[in-house]
Amino acid sequence: MRWGLIGASTIAAEHMIGAIRASGGHIATVLSSSPDRAASYAATHGIAAGVTDLDAAMEGVEAVYISTTNEKHLPQAMAAIAAGKHVLCEKPLAMSVADAVAMVQAADAAGVTFGTNHHLRNAGSHLAIRDLITSGRIGDVLSVRVFHAVHLPPHLQGWRIDNPDAGGGVIPDITVHDADTVRFHLGEDPVDVVATKTSRGMGQGVEDSAMSLWSMPSGAMVQTHESFTHAYAGTGIEVHGTEGSIIARNVMTQQPIGEVTLRFDGGEQAVEYSEHSLYERAVDLFAKACAGEGRPAADGVDGVKSLAVAAAVSRAAETGQRTPVDYGWI
Ligand code: NDP
Repeated sequence: MRWGLIGASTIAAEHMIGAIRASGGHIATVLSSSPDRAASYAATHGIAAGVTDLDAAMEGVEAVYISTTNEKHLPQAMAAIAAGKHVLCEKPLAMSVADAVAMVQAADAAGVTFGTNHHLRNAGSHLAIRDLITSGRIGDVLSVRVFHAVHLPPHLQGWRIDNPDAGGGVIPDITVHDADTVRFHLGEDPVDVVATKTSRGMGQGVEDSAMSLWSMPSGAMVQTHESFTHAYAGTGIEVHGTEGSIIARNVMTQQPIGEVTLRFDGGEQAVEYSEHSLYERAVDLFAKACAGEGRPAADGVDGVKSLAVAAAVSRAAETGQRTPVDYGWI
């Protein structure tokens, strides 16, 4: 499949260009708002055309990968859909749930494939965790605790820590991933949330830390912690059930790493999992879906729902009120 990159971004440079090529895709174009960056990015990454015009970026390609800052996702996705391109879009899909819904509805109406690049559900560790849950190995799920407090590296700070208009803040950046991961594991959608957020020196005009509690339809309780300011916390997820607990450390990450342990009345055992690339699996499933086979790892509805949970967390933290999650039309 021939791809256009919409956005001369870090995530494309660090993960997605390699993943697209590993899946057999050809990257024909890259779009940047700056002619110099378009040219230098294209040269650095061996892409034939570095352009500043969206129509030119879509010429001769079947799919686009959108990884600009968050406020640009909506207009760029709508233009790509109108041009009949398949769209793999970065999270958060948009600045509001209504905008994300509009994108997904437009893709449906146009008959193009739409995917959301939630990488974590592609990790071997998370696939193994979900298998343990769905096979009944830990019984009924009582609670989930997500630890996703990291120290944002300097090269990723930029708009994330000081530009609310570009979608900065830890809630749009990381809470969306946690929402997708919990939905993936439990197979159900949060009903309402309570939350708090703060800024402790890194965020300027946006939050750099958040904590929230989610109610699930099954009665399971979910607790999450996201931050840009925690250098030593480490990441993880714990899923506690009536028959056992899954303790996973260092798995809320872009790499195929971390330890997964199952605790039950017979003791403790390490859980084996596949160490494939998260992003290669995401691209591979997306490309297959474009060819009419299966579905993207995370589709447009998944992207709307993760954004809806993050939006509710944000509102709950602003108001101090328990806040229902509004999934829009879904
Ligand atoms: P970047 O800041 O690297 O890129 C975003 C935009 O910033 C680019 O499109 C580019 O604009 C501009 N830009 C990039 N580098 C420079 C530079 N040196 N000087 C000036 N402008 C520059 O963002 P990320 O790659 O970190 O994130 C992009 C998107 O991907 C976001 O939506 C984010 O949420 C998502 N993301 C997803 C991840 C995942 O694992 N799913 C991980 C990381 C990010 P232009 O294109 O106009 O040149």
